[in-house]
Amino acid sequence: MRQSISPEPPAAKAGKPSLVGMTRGEIGDALRALDLPERDIRMRTGQLWHWIYFHGVSDFERMSSVARPLRARLADHYTLARPEVSNEQISSDGTRKWLIRLDPVDAKDKGAEIECVYIPESGRGTLCVSSQVGCTLTCTFCHTGTQKLVRNLTSREIVQQLVVARDRIGDFPGMTPPDNGLLPSGEGVRAVSNVVFMGMGEPLYNVDNVAAAIDVLTDGEGLSLSKRRITVSTSGVVPEIPPLGDRSGTMLAISLHAVRDDLRNVLVPLNKKYPIRDLMDACRNYPGLSNARRITFEYVMLKGVNDSPAEARELVRLLKGIPAKINLIPFNPWPGTKYECSDWETIENFSDIVFNAGYASPVRTPRGRDILAACGQLKSETEKVRARARLMGDEAG
Ligand code: SAH
Ligand code: SF4
Repeated sequence: MRQSISPEPPAAKAGKPSLVGMTRGEIGDALRALDLPERDIRMRTGQLWHWIYFHGVSDFERMSSVARPLRARLADHYTLARPEVSNEQISSDGTRKWLIRLDPVDAKDKGAEIECVYIPESGRGTLCVSSQVGCTLTCTFCHTGTQKLVRNLTSREIVQQLVVARDRIGDFPGMTPPDNGLLPSGEGVRAVSNVVFMGMGEPLYNVDNVAAAIDVLTDGEGLSLSKRRITVSTSGVVPEIPPLGDRSGTMLAISLHAVRDDLRNVLVPLNKKYPIRDLMDACRNYPGLSNARRITFEYVMLKGVNDSPAEARELVRLLKGIPAKINLIPFNPWPGTKYECSDWETIENFSDIVFNAGYASPVRTPRGRDILAACGQLKSETEKVRARARLMGDEAG
């Protein structure tokens, strides 16, 4: 049983909190803080949940099933605000990148920024979400890894990325998505049908918030994404792989990128802690693994570094016994990188070797390159903003 001590009413603090992005438990606590009787909390939480996540309302007045006096009390203490989108870019291929300014965590915080990318394809639309501001890992080919400022996102901030995307694309009931021929089509296909944790950050360094967010994203009375349409990508945080499978049951992607420890130690330095052998063992034991639920292995194609036919054959040997598909990612360059993308012929040759050994080996078409929205190009403006603030003599920045 929960204790029924009411926390301080929220409006007493500076700024009203938004209910958008909250878990059921958090919404329940928000209602308790308004002194609602304990016996009503569950039912009221369910009502708010449906309005916030199924309908995507941003005004309490639209919650017609909620009694008017309660709507008014809710509006006195809370909002349904979304985080601010400080920049939106739309690529010629329909890919969209949003720079989202997070609410400040304390008085000193100016609000960090994260990036979130939407990729429409035929039959599905994928939202690539961030799990951290920046990343503490330092994979040498990744732009995000060069960002200094790092913090974990809360589950609320992770969920808000999907709400923002559905708002912007018009993907809540009653909204009209733009008719630009670039959105996925088909009976019952949502504009955002899939979520991949492949934006900024290492999701398995923030596993509690990621798992809580996945619970919200997959709740059938709200945002209703299927677990099989959510993929968590990790650079190989071995001890967190089994708990993720047990708790969330989502699809798993492994950023492999090299088949030998000496090279992987350089490309993905976390490999020194969790070498390839341990990573493969964790994959073999991933809960729910089957031919219908294969693990995706991501392999970034770096010219002259990891792209030889011998490495393709070694990759096949390494994956023996693991239901897998291999995603070959042409390296996306970013300013200052020392790597180059492999030649197209080399990539095709690599892909053929893997394919002929019986594995699907699609080459990921780079999307949104013109707006620096492709894999590994994400790096928010936060650093620049901070530098600018310092220049202006603002020490709090
Ligand atoms: N931290 C997690 C998830 C975010 S990175 C992870 O590493 O898996 C998402 C994917 O983009 C990873 O496979 C990553 O290796 C890849 N990536 C990073 N930088 C890239 C680049 N410059 N070009 C292509 N892919 C890149
Ligand atoms: Fe972090 Fe993933 Fe980039 Fe590595 S590839 S630095 S783990 S975001």
